[in-house]
Amino acid sequence: MDILYGPWREGYFTDDLSDCVFCDIVNSPSSDNDNSVVFRNKDLFIVMNKYPYTPGHILIIPYMHVDSPEKLPRNIWLSMFSIAQDSMNILYEYGAHGINMGMNIKSVGGAGIPQHLHLHLLPRWNGDTNFITSIGNSRVYGVDFNSVYEKIKLLAKKYLG
Ligand SMILES: [Zn+2]
Repeated sequence: MDILYGPWREGYFTDDLSDCVFCDIVNSPSSDNDNSVVFRNKDLFIVMNKYPYTPGHILIIPYMHVDSPEKLPRNIWLSMFSIAQDSMNILYEYGAHGINMGMNIKSVGGAGIPQHLHLHLLPRWNGDTNFITSIGNSRVYGVDFNSVYEKIKLLAKKYLG
C-alpha cells in the first residue's frame, strides 16, 4: 500500500494507526472506488458504510484520527456538520423519506470503529425496520451495493461539488 503524506497527520505519528480502517482509506485515495468513497475535501471524506443498516447509509469522517469530538479543531467539526447539512439533499434525492444522523462515541457509546470518529447518515423509508432494533446488526437488503454507491457518488458530485 502507498502511504501518502498527510499534513493532518502531524502530531499523530506516535499513535498506532496501523489497525485503523478509516486511516487506511484516508491514505489510499487511489483506492477510493474499491473503498466506496463518494467524496473528499481538505478536511474529511464520505464513504458508504460497508455494513449498512439501510441502502445509502453513509459516513462522514474527518481525516484526523481522534476518538471524540472535543479533540477535533473547531473548524473541522463545523466542516463535518456543514457537509452533513448539504448531504441531506443527497439522501432525499436518493429517495429517503427521513434520515437518522448521529455519532456513537467510544466502544461503550456503541461505536463499531471507536478509535476514529465518524458521523452516520442513514436514510429511512416509510415502513422500514425501527432503527433501534437494527443497531449492532448488519442487515441484508435486496439492493446491489455497487449500484447504490454509483448513485450516491453522482449525487455527492451534484450537491457537494
Ligand atoms: Zn484512524
